[in-house]
Amino acid sequence: MTERPRFSETKLPRTFSGHRGLAHETGLIFEHGREDFSGVDIDPPQDFKPRLGGLERQSPLGLPGLSEPECLRHYVRLSKQNYAIDTGLYPLGSCTMKHNPRLNEKMARLPGFADIHPLQPLSTVRGALELMADLSHWLVTLTGTEAVALTPKAGAHGEMCGMMAIKAAIAARGEAATRKIVLAPESAHGTNPATAASLGFTVRSIPAGENGLVHPETVAAALGPDVAAIMLTNPNTCGLFERDIVEIARLVHEAGAYFYCDGANFNAIVGKVRPGDLGVDAMHINLHKTFSTPHGGGGPGAGPVVLSSRLAPFAPIPFLRRDGDKLTLVEDKEDTQSFGRMAAFHGQMGMFVRALSYILSHGGDGLAMASENAVLSANYLRVCLKDVMSSPFAERLCMHEVLFDDAWMKDSGVTVLDFAKAMIDEGIHPMTVYFPLVVHGAMLIEPTESESAAFLDMFVATLRDLAFSVKNGEVERFTGAPYYAPRTRLDETTAARKPVLTYKAPVGGREPKEA
Ligand SMILES: *Cc1c(COP(=O)(O)O)cnc(C)c1O
Repeated sequence: MTERPRFSETKLPRTFSGHRGLAHETGLIFEHGREDFSGVDIDPPQDFKPRLGGLERQSPLGLPGLSEPECLRHYVRLSKQNYAIDTGLYPLGSCTMKHNPRLNEKMARLPGFADIHPLQPLSTVRGALELMADLSHWLVTLTGTEAVALTPKAGAHGEMCGMMAIKAAIAARGEAATRKIVLAPESAHGTNPATAASLGFTVRSIPAGENGLVHPETVAAALGPDVAAIMLTNPNTCGLFERDIVEIARLVHEAGAYFYCDGANFNAIVGKVRPGDLGVDAMHINLHKTFSTPHGGGGPGAGPVVLSSRLAPFAPIPFLRRDGDKLTLVEDKEDTQSFGRMAAFHGQMGMFVRALSYILSHGGDGLAMASENAVLSANYLRVCLKDVMSSPFAERLCMHEVLFDDAWMKDSGVTVLDFAKAMIDEGIHPMTVYFPLVVHGAMLIEPTESESAAFLDMFVATLRDLAFSVKNGEVERFTGAPYYAPRTRLDETTAARKPVLTYKAPVGGREPKEA
């Protein structure tokens, strides 16, 4: 505890260049690019006669010019300020930041998958269609459902897809005018109520019980002939398995409503539980969570939606149909009950390849083991930290993520945000904070199955050291953190609400026309 430099000592001497060791300070590209310069040598066009009828640009373009090495250095320096799952632990609860196996990347780069175009004749992409059919088969098998819509581009888009299928099914029953309510627990991810509301439903919030679970009596009380569906996350965002889910499904169906399950946390139960067996009618699967495809910068997302037999007829087009040994894509809504099309093409091929590669390389036993290890890792953290941090569910087994609250830091002068920022100084990406909303000062930690036991011990030791610091009143370690990051506290709200997207050169420099 004593060897850490005191904060006065962290006021390091200034450097002439502004760099810190070999970590470079990087200005905006506009600040070091030159307008009169190009990285490419092209002869000026001769006798060029514009054919734009006077619409050609009169003012300079205003783009910075850099040589190739300058340009490369700019972006490589910026990229080194990124934090990624390939850099270290990324314990964001609910987001499931797990290792992206390189085998998947290799498969996705096979030219037969990587170099095809969605408008190619089907006869030239038979292999790709077979791969989609294989992936569909395994998703349906693992979830115990009837069909899967591959088109949605993310979890939230999948929610939209599943709820549109529910809306179409209700309309087909002639109840569109009466069933306008969607039930969502307080602990739901914000996308659930947002999806329901954007489809014209009214959201009725249902409280969770003391034990973090949704109780059947609460659901029963909220159900009625005006309810279209419930949107329930299982395991829920407190990291708990909804024990009464079968009973809840029964009540929902008895009331003539549908059961939408937010399957973002499927990674905790894949290979162990089939959501279809629990009574789920629709569930999105975030391929970038459960099936290890990269999040964000690694490529586009994919959120396939599995559907029960009650909803399968309403799946979006295009979908795969097998005629004998030939697969076709049904592109036309005619003769189907499909609710229509929600994306131009059939989905994110590269993600399908990666997800299938993950499924096949693990096998059924490997997938079940990944779930078991994810749950084991989270419980290990729960047990190793519960004496220094507080949790309303500390004594209960959790699933793949463990939830702490801020009761243990009450009156310490340190907030959950401060604590998270101090983790950055320790080289660890913070956990999810202030979500779910059902506990005060939530800290939701999801270690995933892909961290070693040795690393989890390191993580525990670090968090314990931080926790003792809070308890010892070393407030400064937190309130000014992060001290060692390239930038310290940013005004995140203003950055999100009023992003500055256009560079304005200082007077006399280049001046873009539009703000
Ligand atoms: C991640 C997540 C979503 C949304 O998924 P995206 O792929 O980010 O759109 C929805 N619900 C829960 C519980 C999640 O964790």
